Amino acid sequence: MIAARIDGKEFAARVREEVAQGVKDLQASHGVTPGLAVVSVGEDPASQVYVRNKLKYTKACGMNSFHRALDADTSRRSLLLLIESLNKDPAVHGILVQLPLPAHLDSRDVIQTIDCSKDVDGFHTSNVGDLWTSGKPFIPCTPLGCLMLLKSVEPNITGKNAVVIGRSNIVGRPMAALLLNESATVTIAHSNTKDLPAICRQADILVAAVGRPQMIKADWIKPGAIILDVGINRIETPDGRGRLVGDVDFEDVSTVAGAITPVPGGPGPMTIACLLANTLEAAKRAVS
Ligand code: NAD
Repeated sequence: MIAARIDGKEFAARVREEVAQGVKDLQASHGVTPGLAVVSVGEDPASQVYVRNKLKYTKACGMNSFHRALDADTSRRSLLLLIESLNKDPAVHGILVQLPLPAHLDSRDVIQTIDCSKDVDGFHTSNVGDLWTSGKPFIPCTPLGCLMLLKSVEPNITGKNAVVIGRSNIVGRPMAALLLNESATVTIAHSNTKDLPAICRQADILVAAVGRPQMIKADWIKPGAIILDVGINRIETPDGRGRLVGDVDFEDVSTVAGAITPVPGGPGPMTIACLLANTLEAAKRAVS
């Protein structure tokens, strides 16, 4: 079997087009332009790239974007005051604090300060609770993007065995909640899980969110399974330039799986597209 390639880049472009149309509609109906505030602290190089892309795509779909870049030694008090001012700003519908934060700042504390109706990352405990109790949360962007990609190849997830590898607050746990809400039978595997390959072989749907390059091999995979590879890992190449790979050995696993996301070009581009969709949704909720 050669797995179908699930194209996250193309799907994300479609989501962004829909968001851009939604922005126009909201402007026409309510005179409101959605606004996203991105707060960054310090100069982590990877974070700078992510922030630049978020701001670029926010503007490209017709929304306002506000970047608040703070020094690495910013105090907790200054950061929380900034978030409180953004909470009150009617031009700001979504607030995102770029993680990781410098070590002296507690990200949980910072996220809890964001007004949960502007928490477009879906990390506030109010949104986390709503996700697990079938409320109407803002859903964390990476798992939301994965679910959209999954449904594009398998609309009916009910009763399927889903294995999520990774239990982080930003990917693994919310992904498991989303799959459970779709009535899958969900297993969450992690660094202490025993005999991971045997657990993965049960999976009709496998989500890898680990951060270990090409860890998952063909003999871990049930024939025909759908594979969503969230991992983004840089590996060395002979030319010294390096390249990005996922947690899944794409070439090897493609010989057994039914469908698979590539890295790059899988869940990655969907993350920003879903952030834009969440920001539009926040603006719609604000006017309703
Ligand atoms: P994390 O480090 O917070 O969590 C990794 C998880 O993997 C942990 O829960 C850990 O228990 C588990 N794990 C580690 N080693 C394991 C092993 N040998 N076997 C089984 N489980 C193991 O990472 P994260 O933030 O959840 O991110 C995971 C990966 O996804 C990273 O590569 C990250 O770069 C990527 N990521 C991509 C996007 C995106 O596409 N937009 C967004 C977030 C994260």
